[in-house]
Parts: sequence; C-alpha cells; structure tokens
Amino acid sequence: MSEEGKNLLQRVDWIILGAETGRRKDKVIPKWDWIRKVILLADENDIPVFMKDSLIPIIGEENMRREFPEQLQNPAVSPKMKKKLYDICAQCKAQLKKNEMITLLARSKRGEQPKQFGFMCKECFKKFCKEIGLDVPQLAEFAESITIEPEEGEAEDEKSMES
Ligand SMILES: [Zn+2]
Repeated sequence: MSEEGKNLLQRVDWIILGAETGRRKDKVIPKWDWIRKVILLADENDIPVFMKDSLIPIIGEENMRREFPEQLQNPAVSPKMKKKLYDICAQCKAQLKKNEMITLLARSKRGEQPKQFGFMCKECFKKFCKEIGLDVPQLAEFAESITIEPEEGEAEDEKSMES
C-alpha cells in the first residue's frame, strides 16, 4: 500500500460498506474478496466497519459487521445538550441531571399555570421540607423518605396529651 493510502487510512474514523442499490445497467456487485480486503485493512488500522444490509445477500448474515466508532456509541454531551439536561440544585449547587432532581414550581393562585423556577436535589429537598415544617410530598422514586419524624420534644408532648 502507498504512503498516501496509509496516511488516508489514519484519518478514517469509520468505514461503511454497502452494495450498490438500484437498477443501473452496469451495477457493480461487490465481491467477497474486495470486502475481505477492506476488512483486513480496517482491522489493521483499528477502524470500525459497518456493513449495510445490502451486503447480506452477498456475504451472508454470519459475516456481517456492524461496528460503531466509540464516539457514536458514547456521544459526549455537547454544552448545549448539557444545558438542557443539567441544572444546579438551588440549595447545595451540585450540578445534576434535571430529571434526577425535584422541580420547583410555583403559582400565585389556583388554576394558574405553575412556573418552574428551579431545581433541588432530593436530599436538599427533604431537608428543606423538614426545616420549614412541611411534609415531604409523596413523589415517584422518592419512596424511602417520606415521613417527617416529629422532634423528640414534640413526640413527648403528644404522649402527655394522650395520657
Ligand atoms: Zn442539593
């Protein structure tokens, strides 16, 4: 193989192989041998190979390769995507996935569309509710929490009231 060819291969991230489709008169049907050569080169250069289904009739399902570049398997979260998916906990400022946090909503009167004004991680939310004396609401995936234990002093008050 030429130097030029080698250099070219080093810049290839992914090889996608398929047979020519359509009804062109001189349609080229790839030979197994060509495909094998490409696969060999790909393997030598650690390049993933993806074969389109058009090759199944030519090489058989058992010889199909459907590999993806790592990049595509684990796409890095783009900054834009990150902004969409992540936010910070209003209390502890931890950056977490929005869908793993409690969404803070508020409305000034009944029937008004609630406005989202922030997020809070589950731990902070539990603490927050406790601090201001609210029952931690029953929420999905939140089951372990939820009852606020009465302070010891209060519990004793209750007992003394019962007796
Ligand atoms: Zn938090």
